[in-house]
Amino acid sequence: MDTRIGFGYDSHEFKPGVLLRIGGLTLDHPQGLAGHSDGDVLLHAITDALLGAVAAGDIGSFFPPGDPRWKDADSAIFLNLAMEELQNAGYRIVNIDTTLILAAPRIGPVAGEMRARVADLLNVEIDQVSIKAKTPEGLNLDHVAQCHAVALVERVQEPDSLKSMSAVIESQRQLEDVVDDLLSSVHGVPKKRVAPVYDTEDIT
Ligand SMILES: [Zn+2]
Repeated sequence: MDTRIGFGYDSHEFKPGVLLRIGGLTLDHPQGLAGHSDGDVLLHAITDALLGAVAAGDIGSFFPPGDPRWKDADSAIFLNLAMEELQNAGYRIVNIDTTLILAAPRIGPVAGEMRARVADLLNVEIDQVSIKAKTPEGLNLDHVAQCHAVALVERVQEPDSLKSMSAVIESQRQLEDVVDDLLSSVHGVPKKRVAPVYDTEDIT
């Protein structure tokens, strides 16, 4: 299996009068995360992990903070771009693991919903996404939310190699048919019934 790994980190400061967006959800909290975009620290860390996995740069190289287009932007846009880069490089997500570090609010009660939302955004199953959270003990950073993320990705089988593989299977089948015909004509051996190796028509 051809796999690669990516790591992402992000941090944002809490600020009153801002909606708190984490993992694509709006959380009930008196303060939100200050940022040029919606400040979604979790989605930003995952975006950087995915870009890093295929050495495609980082979130800042695609979305410069000074660009007015990304003011208050939904961070799902950044994630989508990272997924496109991943796809263009010929890779797909195996799994994502994350750790949020913030004093409040508690993430545990919403972690399930957050995993489902992130899995939805990444177009993967929920068991491919892990979201953990802890408080910033001893860091004196209760005014900040941080997030670490790692992404494991694997190379998607190339269409060309699939094509050549099916050509090999087809030619082997034809060869077997010829041998069977020869055997049955020479020795009177009844022709074997060969079950197809696989039938793409059956895939629904
Ligand atoms: Zn950020």
